[in-house]
Amino acid sequence: MNTAIEQAIELIQLSHRIAALSGAGISTEAGIPDFRGPGGLWDDPELMALMSASGFRRDAAAFYRAALKLFPNLTNAQPTTAHRFLAHLEEQGKVIGVITQNIDGLHQMAGSKNVFEIHGTFRTGHCTRCGALCDMMPLYADLERAGSLPPLCTKCGGTIKPDVVLFEDIPPPDVFREAVRVAQQCDLLLVMGSSLLVYPAADLPGIALDCGARLVIVNLEETDYDPLATVVVRARLGDFAHAALAKT
Ligand code: NAD
Repeated sequence: MNTAIEQAIELIQLSHRIAALSGAGISTEAGIPDFRGPGGLWDDPELMALMSASGFRRDAAAFYRAALKLFPNLTNAQPTTAHRFLAHLEEQGKVIGVITQNIDGLHQMAGSKNVFEIHGTFRTGHCTRCGALCDMMPLYADLERAGSLPPLCTKCGGTIKPDVVLFEDIPPPDVFREAVRVAQQCDLLLVMGSSLLVYPAADLPGIALDCGARLVIVNLEETDYDPLATVVVRARLGDFAHAALAKT
């Protein structure tokens, strides 16, 4: 087995208060593309512009069309081995929190309970006029079937916006505060599938390190935090999680 994988597993075995910080890379093996990995979505600036807060305000229908094009698999994706590995560690009482930049809800589907979605979720939404809460899942199915865009509030006819933090939006401060608390309290921060280029999420490894935690990064590409990590695993998360599940 790859030595870095073995070292990371050993650190996980020795740790008692693990926090995970996941990014889009943990869901690529579920068929949801990432932004900055190989073949990621970053290469299409026009689509990315539509996924911003100002893009949504300008043309909500185009926003939904772009979202459906970018993430065709989002509504039927299933958790990966890496998602299941974190749920397994939480069940063992070793994980104090899963901080995720993802909006796909796959950690909860895998069984993780203490999840901090710092960029929100695509599963719920709110009316931009009256503020009514909306379950987005049946709406997406309708959007794909009937092509009726954008979805409108059944109470007031306002446009529904999914509860995701778009480019130009600020992460929900209460959720981010909790994520910081978890990063401060962990003895190991396990970064899984993140380029660590998006702030303020990318501040969290530094916060954990300042509080004395060890840092393990599992990512296919280099990150700026690699020199500060105790172990860097350059492997597919599926392979890492498969090996780690067998030993924890
Ligand atoms: P990112 O796209 O910037 O980086 C993903 C990283 O994961 C890359 O460095 C890539 O090399 C690595 N990676 C990809 N597949 C991997 C695999 N199988 N094993 C190991 N590593 C793998 O992702 P980010 O840092 O999360 O930032 C992107 C932003 O876009 C986030 O804010 C996130 O909210 C959002 N986003 C979310 C989803 C989702 O919910 N699934 C998908 C795309 C983007």
